Amino acid sequence: MNEVMLCTTNDLSENQLRPDFQNHYQTVISRFFNRDPEIWPVYQSQDIHNLIHHKESFSGSQQHYFHHQLKHRTDIPHNMCTDQRPFDPLALFVAHGCKDWQDPKAVENVISTPCDPAIQGATLATITNPNLVYKEYAGLATDLEQLVVRQIAQLAGYDPSQAGGLFTQGGTFCNLYGYLLGLRKTFPDSIVNGLQNKQLCMLNSESGHYSNMTNLTLLGLDMNHQVIRVHINEQNQICINDLRRRLEECYKQGIQVPTIMLTFGTTDTFAIDDIKQVCQLRDDVCRKYQITRKPHIHVDAAVGWSLLFFRHYDLNENPLSINQATLNSLNALKPLTEGIRYADSFTVDFQKWGYVPYTASLLMIKNKQDMEALKQDASYFTYFEHEVQKKTHLQSTIECSRGATGVFAAYSALQHMGIEGYQTIIAHGLQNANYMRAKLNEHPRCKVVCAENHGPSVVFRLYPEQALQNDDSTHLFRSEQHITEGHQSMDDLIQTTLYHRNHFNRRKGCYLKTNWVESIARTSYDKNDHCLYLPGEKAVFLNPYTSRADIDKFCAQF
Ligand SMILES: *Cc1c(COP(=O)(O)O)cnc(C)c1O
Repeated sequence: MNEVMLCTTNDLSENQLRPDFQNHYQTVISRFFNRDPEIWPVYQSQDIHNLIHHKESFSGSQQHYFHHQLKHRTDIPHNMCTDQRPFDPLALFVAHGCKDWQDPKAVENVISTPCDPAIQGATLATITNPNLVYKEYAGLATDLEQLVVRQIAQLAGYDPSQAGGLFTQGGTFCNLYGYLLGLRKTFPDSIVNGLQNKQLCMLNSESGHYSNMTNLTLLGLDMNHQVIRVHINEQNQICINDLRRRLEECYKQGIQVPTIMLTFGTTDTFAIDDIKQVCQLRDDVCRKYQITRKPHIHVDAAVGWSLLFFRHYDLNENPLSINQATLNSLNALKPLTEGIRYADSFTVDFQKWGYVPYTASLLMIKNKQDMEALKQDASYFTYFEHEVQKKTHLQSTIECSRGATGVFAAYSALQHMGIEGYQTIIAHGLQNANYMRAKLNEHPRCKVVCAENHGPSVVFRLYPEQALQNDDSTHLFRSEQHITEGHQSMDDLIQTTLYHRNHFNRRKGCYLKTNWVESIARTSYDKNDHCLYLPGEKAVFLNPYTSRADIDKFCAQF
């Protein structure tokens, strides 16, 4: 039997860094995150070197001048520039004024800094400028796109010869495709006749990303009657029983469900829906109600997809010497990661936990035939040669022009770092997250929330001293979870939140730049199915440069 399965605690002793892991980590950092001009020619520019190493300083009057231009300038220069320098001074000033994602303190949200090979690879596309809309305008770049699609298909457990996919504008658009695929498969005539007189309802979960809602409004759905946000359990996963109830309710009323949108790693607490179970449930319910056009199951894996790199990691052999706490996490995550291959399509953001610059988002489809459902009338595409049109998804895409920087950058990152490089840098983040959870657990005033989700996000609430006189933070949190509106303990909840919020504001990103999140957990649903959301603080450990020393200093503030 697998011995790692028996361990469920997360104390500091299990979080020790192993020397062999540190060696792997140092190798990845020195090869792929070193910004070394000897290896990566983009960094040979003096301006870019200065940018990366914060070597430029601007005098007060320069700053004033640039800020004034940024706010007020309207003119385009009439004369051509005679200056031979490669970068415009204002553009450089702005580049220096961008948020520094290389800062080890940067643990805000699901944002990362790109790796060197991705940055370098992206330049191939910016120079050659292929347009993925059409084979004739892209040349071989569409083949590279399809190669990456096959690589991710294989990684996820899809059949690479059956799978399809395309790079698109952000995870939001990938999710939009998820809804659209469901609509067009369920109502093929809607591509011409629209959705009038269609009885339909989309299902997603209360902890889904907000792009769910922006996409559904974009599609013109009635948000009060054609969308159901399914309840979530205490770990913020979709509640299977509620999903079943909702799906059955729809079919009993003759309402079609085009898409069920699941999440693999929510943005705030990294909740992972049980995809396999949902797929089985869909099949069961459709059999029971004799539904032939089953809901399309799209998985928003914008953040979580990176765990696919661990699908075949041998947790017993543990070749990278990952520490015990994180082996336990990987072990817990493994069965859920297997779920992705049951989904009909999923969202991959290379730009998040894939260390690729914006934007590099990939829609993955299990059965490429599904794209046919999106195909528009050929007569709309008059200026493209008919035979060449078939070589891309031209007639099925939402966009027209599609850039290839994401394709080149993602391919280059995968090629250079390999599965092992990705495993190392992702494990570094997970080890940081587990370490921070263990450190916060030792603080009587902190309550770590959703630790069972094992992801890169550490989410917690902080309690004031006086609240802890009669109770510990775990019990306080438990009782907050059962508060109902109007109850007197609401006041305590608000006081705690204010206390934590003030503490957060006073620290102002000291040592780690954490985020404030309005909803890290919810209270029990009342008889009207309502609940309240509990706010808290989060740190997301995607950053390859964040170290234990940063976490130690941060935790010493409590
Ligand atoms: C970031 C994110 C999105 C949106 O992706 P963009 O690339 O920002 O458009 C969707 N879902 C989840 C879970 C995300 O974290």
